[in-house]
Amino acid sequence: LQLTKVNLHKILGDIVTLRKRATEGKSVTFQQQFDPSIPPILADEGLLTQLFLNLIKNAVEAVDERGTIRVASRVLSDYSMTPKGERRSRMVAVDVRDDGPGIPREQLEQLFTPFFTTKAKGTGLGLAICQKIVTEHRGMLKVESDPGTGTTFTVMLPLIQ
Ligand code: ADP
Ligand code: MG
Repeated sequence: LQLTKVNLHKILGDIVTLRKRATEGKSVTFQQQFDPSIPPILADEGLLTQLFLNLIKNAVEAVDERGTIRVASRVLSDYSMTPKGERRSRMVAVDVRDDGPGIPREQLEQLFTPFFTTKAKGTGLGLAICQKIVTEHRGMLKVESDPGTGTTFTVMLPLIQ
């Protein structure tokens, strides 16, 4: 893990710019909504790039001929106190949302298992790698999906002051 102060929004913006030119022939609209108050975070830039590339690649693969992918950042404030009266650490959350077909309930638990894929030429490794990268950063990776509406993957990373 090569930790440096990284600009999350620059990483996300660069990936979106890259993927805009590689949408597999689909008409994909990208939306970005970043909370400008989010400071640089301590993270491995290469691994974070790999993480968000994988999530956005999956989103592009999921949407139909016309799709919208939204990448947004927000601060998760936790105003509760530890037993010692210290403020708990805040987290930054990045949502990658698509309006693709969604994920059937019964598949949700298997998503992060290596080699689980529903694609003809999938490796099933993307999300397993994402999970590993997030864990290495002491964060969390969550998925919410409504079949018929779309899917949101949320990456939560600790925000250090
Ligand atoms: P791969 O993309 O090679 O199949 P991943 O680990 O990246 O492997 O994803 C595993 C599976 O999770 C995919 O095959 C797909 O069924 C499901 N999946 C991942 N992201 C999405 C998404 N945004 N929308 C719908 N299904 C998804
Ligand atoms: Mg994938």
